[in-house]
Amino acid sequence: MDTIAAIATAPGGAIGVIRISGKQADAAVEAIFRPASGKQFSVCPPRMLIYGTLFARDGRTIDQCMAVRFPGEKTYTGEPMAELQLHGSPAVLSEALSALFAQGLRQAEAGEFTRRAFLNGKMNLMEAEAVADLVAARTMEAAENAAGQLAGATGGQMHTLRQELVGLAAHFLAVVDYPDEEIEPFFVQQAQSLLERITGQLDVLYQSYERGRILREGLPCAIVGRPNVGKSTLLNGLVGYARAIVTEIAGTTRDTIEETVRIGPLCLRLQDTAGLRDTADPVEKIGVERAQRAAQTAGLVLAVIDGSVPLTDEDREALDWARQAPKALLVVNKCDKPMQAEIPEGFGYVVHVSAKQGQGLDDLRQALLSCAGLEGTIFDGGVITNARQADALRRAAVCCTQAADAVAAGVTPDAVLLDVEGAIGALGELTGEDVREDIIQDIFHRFCVGK
Ligand code: GDP
Ligand code: MG
Repeated sequence: MDTIAAIATAPGGAIGVIRISGKQADAAVEAIFRPASGKQFSVCPPRMLIYGTLFARDGRTIDQCMAVRFPGEKTYTGEPMAELQLHGSPAVLSEALSALFAQGLRQAEAGEFTRRAFLNGKMNLMEAEAVADLVAARTMEAAENAAGQLAGATGGQMHTLRQELVGLAAHFLAVVDYPDEEIEPFFVQQAQSLLERITGQLDVLYQSYERGRILREGLPCAIVGRPNVGKSTLLNGLVGYARAIVTEIAGTTRDTIEETVRIGPLCLRLQDTAGLRDTADPVEKIGVERAQRAAQTAGLVLAVIDGSVPLTDEDREALDWARQAPKALLVVNKCDKPMQAEIPEGFGYVVHVSAKQGQGLDDLRQALLSCAGLEGTIFDGGVITNARQADALRRAAVCCTQAADAVAAGVTPDAVLLDVEGAIGALGELTGEDVREDIIQDIFHRFCVGK
């Protein structure tokens, strides 16, 4: 296999790291790096930073830097590796990289280090995908969950379940081979309870995906309502500074404004929108259409009313838009003034706030967490964050349920076996024990280069 190299750090830092993996790692670094100790790089002690001089391919000195060897197979990729820690100048890094290429190394593809780790049995596929999640984590909780998965929390569990099903399949196979023999009633009972337990475990994990997706991608959240109820003031209150223009003039906000807000584990992609009303102003009209679209596409809608005045027809129309969203939360604003509005029906969450004075915003944050389903979740790796895993889990659970039903109905062992094998296949896709090459390619291509 080729020896690969890539810059692993983002541009702009004081230090830049080049990673190298493959049999030529030592030789390639030795050719371009001279340790200050005078020793050759390849005989320097492993896993220790070595200070020295780095040379470009034409022999010019380009850096005083650190290098480290990771010989043998106990490395991230399972192959000999090395790393260079250079000064972060993009010019230095690219010169160093091309000096390595001159030694026969090639540029690593996106995710190739982790793909090699997977192919060399260093981690299963769920753990490998957790690496990408960890790199991309936007909240502490997302990082914690990915770190838990990287440590094998769920991958290990899924491997164990698969092994149990393999054992069960072996038992059924033995029975299929001797069709004249009766299946022991004890075994039937055991098989059924095993399948039910596994289905339960798969379901719990599958159910976590809705939260996991929000954890990973954040949640688009549109603030909608008629003009002047305080939508922009609310956005500013949640964002923490005067992001949107606020005036007492209806129709102030005409374009949608987006801002990201973190509420604990929740990364909320807030959209302030133009107030929903019939208008002759062509610019405002476009804004209203955008607001309607935002209400339709957001995962969550904050429907805002002004609690200090009775509801108007414009309010009722705006609330109808809000109710179309998968999740909607009613915000009764201006609670610093006497309450005049009746509370409209159809909202599971109702929060009273004064966006202007900051009252009730903590309650609103709590309600948002709860509405997003993230309240009280423990992020230890037990939350599934990608669609591929969720789909495999769902299929595995369906197969297990069917197998359990078939056992209960006294269906012939070969029919049960078909479902058990289906579940084994789906779990194999999940852990990578049984997964197509093109799927592996696809997964790792979505990684960053250098990881
Ligand atoms: P939008 O059209 O829904 O975006 O409303 P704005 O945020 O622009 O606010 C419209 C008017 O209502 C402004 O004069 C705000 O100062 C006022 N306002 C917003 N929130 C509150 C509040 O909580 N209490 C009071 N008393 N006034 C508010
Ligand atoms: Mg506004």
